[in-house]
Amino acid sequence: MTDKELMRMANRLRLDVVETVHTAGDGHPGPCMSVADLIAVLYFDEMKIDPANPGWQERDRFILSKGHACPILYAALARRGYFEPEELKKLRSLEGMLQGHPDMQKTPGIDSVSGSLGNGVAIGLGMALGLRMQKVESYVYVAVGDGEMDEGVVWEAAMAAPQQKAGNLIVFGDCNNEQSGGRCTELTSLYPVADKWESFHWHVQTIDGHDIGQIKEAIRRAKGVKDCPSFIEMKTIKGKNIPYMEDNNAWHKKTPTAEEVEIARRALEGRI
Ligand SMILES: [Mg+2]
Repeated sequence: MTDKELMRMANRLRLDVVETVHTAGDGHPGPCMSVADLIAVLYFDEMKIDPANPGWQERDRFILSKGHACPILYAALARRGYFEPEELKKLRSLEGMLQGHPDMQKTPGIDSVSGSLGNGVAIGLGMALGLRMQKVESYVYVAVGDGEMDEGVVWEAAMAAPQQKAGNLIVFGDCNNEQSGGRCTELTSLYPVADKWESFHWHVQTIDGHDIGQIKEAIRRAKGVKDCPSFIEMKTIKGKNIPYMEDNNAWHKKTPTAEEVEIARRALEGRI
């Protein structure tokens, strides 16, 4: 896909999230919007995947470690053909396959359970090493929230991965400077984030996480480093492109009303 098509897809997925969380009556829309552009690039351009064969051994893997943002991942899986978009209407319902947090046993295309925060980098490292042992040349991508980086297990994996020379592991930090309880920099701040990953001997880049071209280029560079894991700090905005959600932490977990769904639809009109 071209950069413009990917930008439009990211907005399509954003609107899917607003609609599905409205229908479900519960969910975390704000944290979905900051990773929308990344998810669009991964699932519609970058990743080696086959929606008809979700368990394909040679596929690239993706772990949404900040699992509460799963509605955006579900939207991407539906639009990419893993299941019918109609399924999105059953988000968080007992009749559906789309859990409130990702569950690989229930949803085709999900590579790891997540939502108990902090575990994605360690799980991703295990997958990356397993693939290497099996001589499978695939990549493992992980998206971790900046608030999530307060979890200690993130740093256990951050210590281990460079020693294991896990060049097939690429971690994205969704750095929107917000977490459930407020601004990261006013709570247990991990900032400056890039310095910390660098000190753990990762290959580190900092980009605008809403610039499709920068995301693509950062992945290309990360893949060029063969003997070292990569961390890509994405500077993002929580609620991006939904006017009433942008940088408004009240939308961390909140249900849009029917009127707010319409406002979102109008805001994205012409950009989908
Ligand atoms: Mg955050």
